[in-house]
Amino acid sequence: MSIRDDILVGLRASEDLTVGDTTPEQLLGAYRAKVLREVATEIGDACPDHADGDTCYLGCQCAAARDLRRMADEAEKGDAS
Ligand SMILES: [Zn+2]
Repeated sequence: MSIRDDILVGLRASEDLTVGDTTPEQLLGAYRAKVLREVATEIGDACPDHADGDTCYLGCQCAAARDLRRMADEAEKGDAS
């Protein structure tokens, strides 16, 4: 059983299958999207070419940040597993 499955079991047990109108799968997808976007923002803010921050990675990682945002969008739509 994956960690995702463990979390879904816990959500179902604690919230009687739904939390308001939101399913456990939607909650988990939304949380996954939030984490992915946080990481994408961190990467984008640290870009030496496209951000004004003091910190920087080895080079521009904006493509990776865009990929993380795409994954976040997919997680919200329920495409993630
Ligand atoms: Zn960049």
